[in-house]
Amino acid sequence: MIEFHDFNGAAAAVRAAGGEIVHEFPEMRVVAARLPEAAVRGLENSPKVKLIAPESPRVPMALWNDTTVNGETVPFGISMVQADRVAVGGAMPRVCIIDSGYRLTHVDLPKSPNVSGYNGTLPWNEDGDGHGTHVAGTIAAIGGNGTGVVGVVPSNANLYIVRVFGNDGKWAYESDLINAVQRCRDAGSKVISMSLGGGKPLGPWEQSAFDSAYNAGVLSIAAAGNAGDTSTSYPAGYASVMSVAAVDADEAVASFSQKNADVEIAAPGVNTLSTYPKLETNNFSVANGPSWTANHVEGSGRTTGTSAPIVDGGICDVAGAWTGKVVLCQRGTVSFKQKVDAVAAGGGVAAVLYNNATGNFFGTCDDGTGTTCNGVPAVSISMEDGAAALAYLSQTGTVVSKVEPSDTQYMYNNGTSMATPHVSAVAALVWSHNSGWTNAQVRNALTSSARDKGAAGRDNEYGYGIAQACAALKILNPSATCGGGSSEPPPPPPPTDVEAPVISSVTAAKVHKNGRFEISWSTNEASNSEVRFTSGATGTYSDAVMTTAHKMSFSGKSGTLYQYYVSSTDAAGNKSTAGPFTHQN
Ligand code: CA
Repeated sequence: MIEFHDFNGAAAAVRAAGGEIVHEFPEMRVVAARLPEAAVRGLENSPKVKLIAPESPRVPMALWNDTTVNGETVPFGISMVQADRVAVGGAMPRVCIIDSGYRLTHVDLPKSPNVSGYNGTLPWNEDGDGHGTHVAGTIAAIGGNGTGVVGVVPSNANLYIVRVFGNDGKWAYESDLINAVQRCRDAGSKVISMSLGGGKPLGPWEQSAFDSAYNAGVLSIAAAGNAGDTSTSYPAGYASVMSVAAVDADEAVASFSQKNADVEIAAPGVNTLSTYPKLETNNFSVANGPSWTANHVEGSGRTTGTSAPIVDGGICDVAGAWTGKVVLCQRGTVSFKQKVDAVAAGGGVAAVLYNNATGNFFGTCDDGTGTTCNGVPAVSISMEDGAAALAYLSQTGTVVSKVEPSDTQYMYNNGTSMATPHVSAVAALVWSHNSGWTNAQVRNALTSSARDKGAAGRDNEYGYGIAQACAALKILNPSATCGGGSSEPPPPPPPTDVEAPVISSVTAAKVHKNGRFEISWSTNEASNSEVRFTSGATGTYSDAVMTTAHKMSFSGKSGTLYQYYVSSTDAAGNKSTAGPFTHQN
């Protein structure tokens, strides 16, 4: 980003230096551009240039695990922030979501005229990544339609979407965020919700943009970050932006939530269920034979269905004569990337990696430096399924490993990214009761009414505590009334099931070079999932999905040794725990 003393001729000067202009900010006299190194040095010496600094990346703050929802589920966060106790007062203030877009066709998300957005280089009403659609559902998923989930504002939402993340969901730049803030303001937004962040910029412009928005009456709310340490993310770290920590269903701060002097408020952000725009399917099947569920090997190819005769490739450490074959490879000895590349080199059309220990696993072609495999699709299956598949050699096998757009999919997600929209929507809900209140009044009401957690008063983990819609409304309007909220659940019937689930096939695997890992296990009956860490991380993580195939994602650190226990509780309340297990990430 280049700040000029005089904006006249600024863009021309950047172009003349060989720069490709990305954004122009006349009010700040700043041009954001891609520039060759030599051009940067040239502009640094120009008397027209006041300051030049590289941009900081801005990344989404979440991890996920997709799912299907039967009927309508009210996520636990809705009652935790008292959203079920406060009705929309009057006109909803506009909430601007800066993220990866919005799947407008999703059955559980509001449509025009409740939603509009800015069409930049990417259309606002699509989302190939999913992060933005998940955030939007927490704010505004339609309540009472018998399907999916319920947002904090389940009707009458007023959303404006500005997309900064592409379908890879990786990152945007500081100038993209500054530009997005301007688009939000131009559209009359009162709240800006940002489930994103990054390091402190070298230049002053991003802070200026948020200070300016705040002075103009906008309330900006951002994720505290998921590094699990005491560092500060930006824009959350600016005084003109509220920084949001994440708590779990037990109101305990998430291990990943950043803890620092800037954390202002907390909200639900662990196992948060919300809308998702796509469906992933992975399996391996035999024609007129069995079909096995599979996992995609990260960094390998995708396929809607590749069919060919099955061949046994052994451990696939070197290429064989596999032209036109689906190659079964046993895990072990060499890396996943070497196996998949050997299959491609041998002419194979797909690789099926089967485990050398009980259960399935999550493989990646990434050796830690961002590498991918050599094109062919690859999936993994369990050791047991691998042994079964070996009985079908030379028969036709089909590998499916695809991601399709979906209008009916949902996702459990962890992150301060999930906490942030709870606070943004609570702010909007409160504000809908009087458009004359200022951003500073709404902010003060949120913090002074928050349910105190952790150390008494404000602390670095929870800020002032968990956002409370009803209590905040009563700060601003003491005569306001709140509904009773969801009634107490009826007492459970006497248990007829007295057998606890049997836990098996506990595995853990790193699934991304950023340290993300997944723990999975099986149970012999439908039960929920819980992981408790005793080393490497602290905390207990659970979700309420009743399943026999358990899988939970965590944002971890590469190189850390984790010790953990897994537990599952069936519908009758019978609980089993297994462990300790260790995972070297
Ligand atoms: Ca719904």
